[in-house]
Order: sequence, then C-alpha cells, then structure tokens
Amino acid sequence: MDSHAEATVELSTISGNVEALCEHVAPAAVMAVVKANGYGHGAVPAAHAAVDGGAAWLGVVHVAEALELRRAGIDTPLLCLMAIGSDQHADAIAASVDLSAGSAGMVRRIAAAAAGAGRRARVHLKADTGLSRGGATLADWPSVLETARQAEAAGSIVVAGVWSHFASADDPGNPSIEAQLAAFKEALAVAEGAGITPQVRHIANTAAALDVPDSRYDLVRVGGGTYGLATLPGGPPPWLRPAMTLRARLALVKRVPGGTGVSYGHRYTTSRETTLGLVPVGYADGIPRAAIGLPLVWARGQRWRIAGTVCMDQLMIDFGDEPVAEGDEVVIFGPGDNGEPTAQEWGDTLGTISYEIVTGIGARVPRAHRA
Ligand SMILES: *Cc1c(COP(=O)(O)O)cnc(C)c1O
Repeated sequence: MDSHAEATVELSTISGNVEALCEHVAPAAVMAVVKANGYGHGAVPAAHAAVDGGAAWLGVVHVAEALELRRAGIDTPLLCLMAIGSDQHADAIAASVDLSAGSAGMVRRIAAAAAGAGRRARVHLKADTGLSRGGATLADWPSVLETARQAEAAGSIVVAGVWSHFASADDPGNPSIEAQLAAFKEALAVAEGAGITPQVRHIANTAAALDVPDSRYDLVRVGGGTYGLATLPGGPPPWLRPAMTLRARLALVKRVPGGTGVSYGHRYTTSRETTLGLVPVGYADGIPRAAIGLPLVWARGQRWRIAGTVCMDQLMIDFGDEPVAEGDEVVIFGPGDNGEPTAQEWGDTLGTISYEIVTGIGARVPRAHRA
C-alpha cells in the first residue's frame, strides 16, 4: 500500500459469489449489477469477475456507466435500469445496451432514438408493482404496452424484458412481497394479452433472489450479493463473502498527557497519558462523520474506538499503551475473518446499510484489484 489508504478488492471472491448465486437461483440467470462503480468496487473489474463467475447479464443505471463497460470490451448483455436523458439513447442502442421504459413517452423517445441509430432498440418495460418509484402504474400499463407493441410492429424496438422492483424484499414475510408478486403476475398477463412476449421477466434483487424463490422468474438482478453483501436482517448468508477490505496506515503516532483534547471541537479528551495514532482517512474517503466514538477500527488484532471528530481527511485513535508505530496497518472493514469489522457492521452501527458504506468510499481511495 503506497497511498494513504487502499480498498483491496478480491476479484476471485466476486466470481465465487456470482458462481454460488447462479447455483442458488438456477434455472434463473444472474444479472450482476455493477452500477455506481460496481458498488465502489470498480465497475470494469467487477463486471469481468462477475462474468467469469457466470453472470449472463450485467446491469447499470446510467448510459455513461453502460458505455464504460462496452469501451472496456465487455459484450455481455447489459441493461440500463434508468436511462434518463434521451440524447444518450442512440449511443446506447448503437452499443447494444438494453434500455428500460416505464412510460409511453419513454418508449416513444427510445423508438425515435432507434430510428436515429439505424437499428432496433432492445427495451425492458417496467411495471410499478408497489415500490412507487420507477415504472408504470397498473393503470398506465396498457398504454405503455400498446405504445411498445406499435413500436415493435414498426420495427424500431423489440421488447426484451418486462420487469419490476421490490420495496421490502429484505424484510422476510412483509406482506408487500406477496402483493408485488401478484401485481407482477397480473402485469405479465396483461402484457401477454396485449401481444407482448418479453424474452426475460425479472423482479428479484439480492434479497429476493436469496429469500423468495417465486420471485426469480428468468433472471435475478443481484447487486449486493455480487460483492458479498445483502440487506437482509443479519446480513448475507455465510456462502457469500465480502470482496472489499478498506485499510490505511498510521501516518503519525505520538504520546500525549492526560486531559488532552483530541480533534475538532475536542469532543474526546484523553483520560491519562496515552498514545494517539492518526489514521489518514476521513469523511471525504467515506468514513461517516457520525462514527465518532465507535469501536470500528481494527489494528494489532483488536478493535479501537475512534477518538473524537472524524475529519475530512483523517481520524484519531487512542491506543493507550499499545506499542503502535507509524506505518502500522489498520483495517476499517473487511470480510470479518480476523475480527475486523465488516461493512455490514458499519452499516448496522450507523443506522444504514452496508451498500451505503461501500459505495461511499471516496474516489481518491485507490482500489487495488487482486486476482
Ligand atoms: C440496484 C438495483 C438492484 C440491485 O439490488 P441489490 O439489493 O443490490 O441486489 C436491482 N434492481 C434495481 C432496479 C436496482 O436499482
């Protein structure tokens, strides 16, 4: 580690997670979701690793993310989950990127872009089955289908998929899961009645892929699971393994007397003479400022509390009389093998989810990809 910190990403772990997920959901196929820079793990390396593990599809949110994968030579079927901005649709269509449409207007804009690109667009029609985010309500669904059918007949699009997304798949037994499954079934039946036969039907995210077998249909869209994370209570099953370890090296170590106020606002004061260590990562690197006082830094085989305010670029640890030295490695989170915190524990402790922790790791933290 030459830099102030490093996020090590085990690519074999990503491949292994996808392989295990493929087995778990078969005969459904796996779409590895690599949006947001592969949940912070690096989109292109994560995509390669996921395809090596058996992912038949890749998913991103924006066209720019899709084109980055295509430029890297990745030719796996690829869906843009929210391709806003129709100025980019022609580029996506030309690069064989599937687009999502949740309104008749969106279908028309994609069809127009297809004419510009000189080839058929592949479209996944999105039904809102209860999340109330993207997708057409069941009231608007027939007009979306009719617009799509006409565009298909005109040769400008092909309906590659019909899909939806859960609100509470990570809350086992939540009645909305069954309600959304029923609504999806209905949306598919209405589509069939309207003469739309999608190549793939998909509604499951990681939590549903793991926990709701009826939700798997032809394809599951697995983001967190790809990286060994899940939002289910208690986190991912043990056969999924976190792929990222975030570490740093102590940049400075010093003895200070008791009664010394530490970091901005002196929100921590040493109780006796002690050794302070400076960990050169802060909230600009993705360490939440709310982590003040939490025992979430691991060094020399044990946990240490964050002493005082987390700054933009650094935080302090009170090491007592532990013989720490400048250059010693500290681990912020990892797979948890040695007792170091996991991103799951960071999320649980801070009232958020592991996804927000890993996607929040700053761009200036180098990612080191290990085969
Ligand atoms: C991000 C996302 C996913 C992946 O969710 P995970 O819980 O990470 O598996 C699936 N579908 C859609 C629409 C998404 O936006």
